[in-house]
Amino acid sequence: MSTRVAVVTGSNKGIGLAIVRALCKQFQGDVYLTSRDIGRGQEAVASLTSEGLKPMFQQLDINDLNSITTAAAYFKEKYGGVDVLINNAGIAFKVADTTPFAIEAEVTLKTNFFATRDMLIHFLPLIKPGGRVVNVSSNSGLRALNQCSPALQQRFRIEDITEDELVGLMQQFVDKTKKEEHKKDGWPETAYGVSKLGLTTLSMIQARRLSKERPNDGILLNACCPGWVRTDMAGPKATKSPDEGAVTPVYLALLPPGATGPHGKFVSEKEVQPW
Ligand code: NDP
Repeated sequence: MSTRVAVVTGSNKGIGLAIVRALCKQFQGDVYLTSRDIGRGQEAVASLTSEGLKPMFQQLDINDLNSITTAAAYFKEKYGGVDVLINNAGIAFKVADTTPFAIEAEVTLKTNFFATRDMLIHFLPLIKPGGRVVNVSSNSGLRALNQCSPALQQRFRIEDITEDELVGLMQQFVDKTKKEEHKKDGWPETAYGVSKLGLTTLSMIQARRLSKERPNDGILLNACCPGWVRTDMAGPKATKSPDEGAVTPVYLALLPPGATGPHGKFVSEKEVQPW
């Protein structure tokens, strides 16, 4: 049998680094720490190596299609595919940031929704039977959903929303912030929340598609919230350590062989949440 492989995006620091640490201890196979910056990635590898762990490294900037396709080709060539993919890379503007909201919306959705979707476009076909895919989303996405107009909420919640429709809605939000029309048209005033609302909805759509198109492959794909975690993103007042924040993503990544769920769910504290 070929060596199994797990890949974690944005894992040079924060929750991603803690996920790699946990997988190095618990996953039977090669674990890849990936980062957009090679120097920061190699420093992170060195720090885990000094803990006695053996992560591997691959450069991966999810905003760079060339980087995504190069990495995808590498994993296909070396391992024949990927067993575990954790889409953890993400960004958030600080509350105090004075960047105009329309730019914040464009930049935040670019990474958290559109670039993560690019990862899925290129990596989902590589996921091996029995594979696990985890999209690190946020409770902020659920809060943003509940702040949308009833009409928008219904569109996000209907079971037959298509990926094209979702992509159109996310683009619409960005476009409407430019004309300052997003609030009037039922959107909340949170770019990060909308980006994660999009990512969770995308996870549900893609899980349904996997069940339909690869019914016998037993792949489980979920979105999750890691909790409020002390990282550069959330700051020192957050309640969880990065290792504690890694618990739910790692639980979903290591759902045992033959498990039939959760699949296509939003999971927080290892529990499926209502959507
Ligand atoms: P950090 O800011 O500490 O780490 C984010 C990581 O993502 C960094 O490694 C960063 O790399 C990387 N990254 C950003 N953009 C890209 C990109 N284009 N390509 C590759 N990597 C990229 O954040 P956290 O660890 O807190 O967050 C991890 C995930 O958890 C995010 O998706 C976040 O939204 C989510 N989350 C976090 C919560 C929290 O309380 N911390 C709560 C809910 C969700 P670099 O160092 O190069 O910038």
